Amino acid sequence: MPVRCLFWRKLIILIDGRSSPVSQIDDIAIDPALPGLHFQCNVNACKGACCTMPGGRGAPVSDDEVAEIHAAFPVVRKHLSAKHLQVIEERGFVEGGAGDLVTTCVDGAACVFVTYEGDVARCSFEKAFLAGEIGWRKPLSCHLFPIRIDRGLHERIRFEYLQHCKPALEGGAAAGVPLAEFAGNALVRAYGASWYQRFLAYCRSRLEIESSGGR
Ligand code: SF4
Repeated sequence: MPVRCLFWRKLIILIDGRSSPVSQIDDIAIDPALPGLHFQCNVNACKGACCTMPGGRGAPVSDDEVAEIHAAFPVVRKHLSAKHLQVIEERGFVEGGAGDLVTTCVDGAACVFVTYEGDVARCSFEKAFLAGEIGWRKPLSCHLFPIRIDRGLHERIRFEYLQHCKPALEGGAAAGVPLAEFAGNALVRAYGASWYQRFLAYCRSRLEIESSGGR
């Protein structure tokens, strides 16, 4: 077994009722689909759909991130529409209870912190961050997307497919951008640089094995 294969352990857990081989780095289980995926957001095609998905639940927010939202709001409010500001005034920044918070939604769809550039929905926190106005980029769950963290008995990272992301999958494949690298900054933020380097080595090794026809 190559030395790099020692970076992770393999275990069998049940996912969606099926028995699936899953790799694990530290205590984080890895969706077997992740290493083979390529991804590059194409907001001109998707229009920022992940920020405006109908369904009534906004982006997951950790309890700690509520303080970041409060600190950033005085800066980002200038990017928000009168309607979104009114929703914030009436319902607040987040909904749900401790440990299960999500950003407030407008009309059961757009996150209340969405701002529009033409017909493209953008995150007002990220807009302010990229302009150097605040030091906090956006909630971790948004930074990671289309990677999701399932926190249960076994913490697991997985790919979440949205049909609006199809152009991002196709564009990532055409440009040769692995999802593992596209999401690099967010994964370092979530799990640290050491974990991310081992994750990257695992993904590259899986790709090598798959491209050689091995298992
Ligand atoms: S994650 Fe998908 S829906 Fe969201 S901006 Fe990227 S391509 Fe668009």
